[in-house]
Amino acid sequence: TTAPVTVLGLGLMGTALARAFLAAGHPTTVWNRTAAKASALVAEGARLAPTIGDALAAGGTTIVCLTDYPAVRDLLDDAALEGATLVNLTSGDSGQARETAAWAEKRGARYLDGAIMAIPSSIGTDEAVILLSGPLPDFDLGALGTVSHLGEDPGLASLYDVAGLTMMWSVLNAWLQGTAMLKTAGVDAATYAPFAQQIAAGVAGWLPGYAEQVDKGSFPAEVSALETDVRAMAHMVEESEALGVNAELPKLIKAMADRAIAAGHGGEQYPVLIREFERP
Ligand code: NDP
Repeated sequence: TTAPVTVLGLGLMGTALARAFLAAGHPTTVWNRTAAKASALVAEGARLAPTIGDALAAGGTTIVCLTDYPAVRDLLDDAALEGATLVNLTSGDSGQARETAAWAEKRGARYLDGAIMAIPSSIGTDEAVILLSGPLPDFDLGALGTVSHLGEDPGLASLYDVAGLTMMWSVLNAWLQGTAMLKTAGVDAATYAPFAQQIAAGVAGWLPGYAEQVDKGSFPAEVSALETDVRAMAHMVEESEALGVNAELPKLIKAMADRAIAAGHGGEQYPVLIREFERP
């Protein structure tokens, strides 16, 4: 675990990455456009590369963590990449990842794309999920957290990242909707939160079984039929309207189920809605 590593980009995340490498004993070279941001890391034992060329020449694997993909291309467009191994942990979408992989490989670099599903303070703990895709890594990124290599397609890490974001914000929106409803009855957020947490965990437990239905393309109503679900959805819409809280999310949920029922799926189970999600 003591292979040398270089970190380009010392924002909130890049600094956390460099710090975790140092803590795990990796000789760590750092570079940042605003060099002053490196001072704390240098005091902790990092070597500050004076130029981007010097940073790349340090050898070992180069971790890139900038604001976005255009910033990465901007920074590395004139750099000598021949023989370099780049691990780009900058957030973006799968198209940007695949394009950047092709661009880097054309210039003689070995390129892995990655995504960080964690906040800076959790980097270096098992809680930090680091996704990688592209050629198999020859460098152990275990110092950063729980690392998964998802496959050869360099777009996969970003795709999982974006898929995970829809999960995260959907759960948070659902919780805020319920919180707004309950506040009208004087129930505060902290009182509802443990109940909401229990529901979310229960629903999360259904995913593997529902995934089997999606993969088989067969949706027998083992627990509940969509036409039963949609009656509960109507309560959710009506209650939100009656309470004078926002009803957009309840209406969206019901509209998708209504469409699936109109298409003849009322007797099937909820995951049949995959058909609504699979098209624009
Ligand atoms: P910051 O805004 O703190 O840092 C951005 C970094 O990018 C700085 O080092 C900045 O340099 C550099 N940069 C931006 N544009 C350029 C450029 N054109 N040329 C050279 N360097 C440039 O962002 P974070 O560190 O928080 O985020 C970095 C990446 O990590 C993002 O893609 C983000 O989505 C991802 N991420 C962040 C998380 C977080 O919680 N912070 C969570 C998960 C992913 P300078 O210091 O000179 O401005």
